[in-house]
Amino acid sequence: MTDTFMNFAIEQKELAKNKRYQVGAYLTNGVSSHNTHLTEREHPDTTQHAEARIISESARLGIATQGHKIYITLSPCVSCAKLIIQSGITHVYYQELDKKQEFALELLESAGIYYEKSYK
Ligand SMILES: [Zn+2]
Repeated sequence: MTDTFMNFAIEQKELAKNKRYQVGAYLTNGVSSHNTHLTEREHPDTTQHAEARIISESARLGIATQGHKIYITLSPCVSCAKLIIQSGITHVYYQELDKKQEFALELLESAGIYYEKSYK
């Protein structure tokens, strides 16, 4: 099932129009789900990382994120890790490790959030 959910995140990644910054995210609690991708960089003021976007969109749509699992095509940055922690997401699965952001994984671990590099 992890691969299936990661595939949904990858589909979102491919929707991002700026090919340099393609990241996709998929959020699910096993019952409901939500997906999104990194916004285009054409409007820098509104650019959000995929994780920030999916969490803020969930808030706007009234979707509780507590207990959800997030599937992302790139491991989170520190800012997104903080959002993940505060939003009550319990599991983080990522496709690729962002080596510049490894501290973010330490933050997740310190908050008791399960994380795993998964998929191919
Ligand atoms: Zn981020």
